[in-house]
Amino acid sequence: MSLLVVGSVAYDAIETPFGKVDRTLGGAASYFALAASRFTPVRLVGVVGDDFEKRDEDILRHHRIDVAGLERAAGKTFFWAGRYSQNMNERTTLATELNVFAAFNPKLPPSFTDSPYVFLANIDPTLQHSVLKQIRGKPKLVALDTMNYWIERTPAELRETLKHTQVLMINDDETRQLSGEHNLLRAAKRIFSMGPKTLVIKRGEHGALMVHDRFLFSVPGFPLEEVHDPTGAGDSFAGGFMGYLASAGRVTDEALRRAMVFGSVLGSFAVEKFGVERLKTLTLREIRARAMKFHRLTAFEL
Ligand code: AMP
Repeated sequence: MSLLVVGSVAYDAIETPFGKVDRTLGGAASYFALAASRFTPVRLVGVVGDDFEKRDEDILRHHRIDVAGLERAAGKTFFWAGRYSQNMNERTTLATELNVFAAFNPKLPPSFTDSPYVFLANIDPTLQHSVLKQIRGKPKLVALDTMNYWIERTPAELRETLKHTQVLMINDDETRQLSGEHNLLRAAKRIFSMGPKTLVIKRGEHGALMVHDRFLFSVPGFPLEEVHDPTGAGDSFAGGFMGYLASAGRVTDEALRRAMVFGSVLGSFAVEKFGVERLKTLTLREIRARAMKFHRLTAFEL
């Protein structure tokens, strides 16, 4: 089933102990769409400038991503630069140049308005809400990502958008900040009262925890000898998670557990190379093989 994503499409400059790239395709929507497209057709809504190169649009197109919602505006594409320390867990943002992204006002092409699965990547909650208002009928599943910036600056708008969201995917700091509770289970209860009944707490190399109003499920990060570039891991996780659910077509408890594993599988592949390089060549066969490894990694008898 079709999966809609709205979010940033960017050029990133990334520096890690393994190397450096000056200008590579990035943005939350790019990572998400490339990860999810292994499972299901993806529709992308975003904005790029007139410097956005055809070869980057082609990367998206080659992966069955429908770019009818990728607007081209006069000016430069959103640019982000970051540097990782030796242990890869600390990231310094060196530059955030919003450029055409500053005036982004997402418009869904008519062919996108029936999307049953929706992922609202990290953008202004008012814009996230405006996307939902453009959808005809009620989507089967809406998932949302956000960050400290929006939790602090636009709490009322975020609360309003959360009322229409079933899955919230954020990290532990954001969970604590949004709920005002330090304990994550208590935090989840607070968040359930805001709308979402499923909270996915992303914990970087430590994996992710799902708190559902009926159950808990935890998935590790896949142990890798070398992480070359952690950028986009969270968005790739979200792409694997939502892509799997959209392909399954039913949001059962079992499907949610499997989605957590596919999320972690996609996140682990994304960090193996710089930018979206690894996602570009990734096959469903490789994804299945790594999901089996997760099974062996976590299975035990009692
Ligand atoms: P992550 O590593 O999951 O935080 O995602 C990194 C991606 O998010 C990069 O490709 C950036 O281009 C993009 N990004 C960075 N800052 C922002 C922002 N303020 N809004 C939207 N996307 C952003």
